[in-house]
Amino acid sequence: MCFKPVTGGPLLLLRNGFGGAHVAGSLANWAAPVYQADAGMIVFGGLMFAAPRADLYANTLAYEITPLVKATGFREYDARWLFGPDINLLGIQALGLGLGTYIHELGQSRIVVGHDFRAYSLSIKQALTLGLLSAGCEVLDIGLALSPMAYFAQFDLDAPCVAMVTASHNENGWTGVKMGAQRPLTFGPDEMGRLKAIVLSGAFEERPGGRLVRIDGVMERYIADVASRVALTRPLKVVAACGNGTAGAFAPEGLRRMGVAEVIEMDCDLDWTFPKYNPNPEDHVMLQAMAEAVRRSGADLALGFDGDGDRCGVVDDEGEEIFADKIGLMLARDLAPLNRGAKFVVDVKSTGLYATDPILAANGCTTLYWKTGHSYIKRKSAEIGALAGFEKSGHFFLGGTMGRGYDCGLTAAAAILGMLDRNPGKRLSDLKKALPTAWTSLTMSPHCADETKYGVVEAVVKAYQALADAGGEILGRKIVEVVTVNGVRVALADGSWVLVRASSNKPEIVVVVESTRSEEDMRALFRQEVKPRLARHPEVGAYNQEI
Ligand SMILES: [Zn+2]
Repeated sequence: MCFKPVTGGPLLLLRNGFGGAHVAGSLANWAAPVYQADAGMIVFGGLMFAAPRADLYANTLAYEITPLVKATGFREYDARWLFGPDINLLGIQALGLGLGTYIHELGQSRIVVGHDFRAYSLSIKQALTLGLLSAGCEVLDIGLALSPMAYFAQFDLDAPCVAMVTASHNENGWTGVKMGAQRPLTFGPDEMGRLKAIVLSGAFEERPGGRLVRIDGVMERYIADVASRVALTRPLKVVAACGNGTAGAFAPEGLRRMGVAEVIEMDCDLDWTFPKYNPNPEDHVMLQAMAEAVRRSGADLALGFDGDGDRCGVVDDEGEEIFADKIGLMLARDLAPLNRGAKFVVDVKSTGLYATDPILAANGCTTLYWKTGHSYIKRKSAEIGALAGFEKSGHFFLGGTMGRGYDCGLTAAAAILGMLDRNPGKRLSDLKKALPTAWTSLTMSPHCADETKYGVVEAVVKAYQALADAGGEILGRKIVEVVTVNGVRVALADGSWVLVRASSNKPEIVVVVESTRSEEDMRALFRQEVKPRLARHPEVGAYNQEI
């Protein structure tokens, strides 16, 4: 393609040169030259897209003509902003251009895009797409989607990259983008750091060759794919809870296609105002509503899906919630005899029962405790070839014949239903009661300033490491493992453990303890061990709650 200046023509022309960083006060840049190419191509002017600013306010000239991107939106492995005050549409376009620039650095250009059900998500995806096109990407738009449907499309359409516009279960007003460039993974801290640097410094590289393709039929193929993971023979009655989020358009059909005899739809009408509660199956409001639905209907279980369908929450036939670490343990015990020597990955907030479980041990299965966060568990599971990874907030990463390793609420549902099918005489609550008992504390968070919390945690890590190296004990039990991937998780000989880490988003330290002995022992692990240890640091303040 050759570029030559023109004065007009029936082309798709986008002028995009905002020039220097301070746009307000001069519109001279709008006279930048434009260039003509073949019909259907998108062509940009000679001036580079400006680096975004962070100090703009809506309803001003500068906001209307300058990209706004606040740095705080780039998190460890997620990107989330309040749409309007934190990022504007030009900022989203800058993000797309930065992402396109980055994936070219990685030797890629083909990318799937999708969006969740919110008032503004479609326009955000379109702004993002403009940026990707100007970076020379081939953009495959799959339309309204769940995050796992976009991950599925990477395989279905053989596209290495993905950008899914979603704020998951967050309040209306939030937006975000889940991104990846290596199936089945999403960006981790390194990739997010590089993208942030490109976007905030305006180190964009515009390229010719951008192409937009609208793809139909991915939703049908995604549902067929998740449904193919199980074919139920046992008649089950299942509550499908979607909290009026995007999953409402996918989950009931997916469950029916798996062979669920009766799907009881609960809040499956899409409503971006989330009239009842946010679609977050980790939150007790949604869990309580699911429990009530089970009791009312006599269902075998309730499955709750979060706003973008990458998490699954579970309530059993007695109306009790079972968090993902325990459901994961139930799955692992069920799968172990069929997959001898299998590896599992769980996050450090998860129950210690994996380490001591007799069924897992008898089948030569091992479990790695790894860093909390969906991106970390997904990556580690892929790296060590785990059969499954479980993240306590409800992300399941299923491999082997069960899935492709990305987090998908419906794939998790298929695995859980498959487990019930393999145990026809047992209810979900029976399988839960067959687990060895453990008493796990609430998450307790003493205040500690952001500037000092990492130092305090580092000192605690060192002290526990030294205690373990010296063959030390905690409340009469030998330390068997000190995991330091995320703060410190100290595992004891009887499977009990204590966890101390810095909160990733609040001025707090996070403490969790678990006892395999008794509730009283759980309290002792906190009151006689962790609390006095933290009290030695004057920087540590009052707890939000204690056991
Ligand atoms: Zn989600």
